[in-house]
Amino acid sequence: MEGAEAVVAAAEEENSPAILQIHPSALKQGGIPLVACCVSAAEQANVPITVHFDHGTSKQELVEALDLGFDSLMVDGSHLSLKDNIAYTKYISLLAHSKNMLVEAELGRLSGTEDDLTVEDYEARLTDVNQAEEFIDETGIDALAVCIGNVHGKYPASGPNLRLDLLKDLHALSSKKGVFLVLHGASGLSEELIKASIQRGVTKFNVNTEVRKAYMNSLSNPKQDLGPCDGFSKRSHESCGNREDALVWFIWKSIIPSPRKD
Ligand SMILES: [Zn+2]
Repeated sequence: MEGAEAVVAAAEEENSPAILQIHPSALKQGGIPLVACCVSAAEQANVPITVHFDHGTSKQELVEALDLGFDSLMVDGSHLSLKDNIAYTKYISLLAHSKNMLVEAELGRLSGTEDDLTVEDYEARLTDVNQAEEFIDETGIDALAVCIGNVHGKYPASGPNLRLDLLKDLHALSSKKGVFLVLHGASGLSEELIKASIQRGVTKFNVNTEVRKAYMNSLSNPKQDLGPCDGFSKRSHESCGNREDALVWFIWKSIIPSPRKD
């Protein structure tokens, strides 16, 4: 919850829309009260904030998420074959659209670790442009999470190696299809890479590590005794608020479906 408050505070300070994302493992921990807290934080924000269910890897958790108050969700069938990923994503997409929710899905496979989900390097696959066209046509998704060398968690010491040429091709396809591009693993990307990605059509960046790092730093080095959550979340925001990339926060400017604040 402190993380949600910190993201909202940063978005308000930057006068930027943002998306609060809840991963299945966070939902398992926090349950319905966590979603309700995020929805409430979104409603009270003075910038458009939406609440998104991230990385739904099972039908059951996605179907359950349909009725919890999320504005959008991510169908993650990246562990499946193309055929099965299409069937899985299409099924959830139809249900989610009937509830006016936006649908993001992943094609290709990211390596790295996010919460309790680890994908080894050898399992990682880049997004294929031809497959992406079929995937978009068949599933009716609103946003495509691309794999262009981005990873969850830490980049190697040599730094990120993003295939901007592939991103350019995917952008040509997504513009033709009216679909938005999403970049997971945006933590640790330089300002130049963030800008280059925006120029090539990315409208949503998933940032997690900076938020967690700021949270942990403020726990281990409190500038004052830990008091009410409000002050605490403000400090975790302040400690990462001066990082340019931290202020990119899950920006999804052009596709915020039904801003909770008009
Ligand atoms: Zn992700």
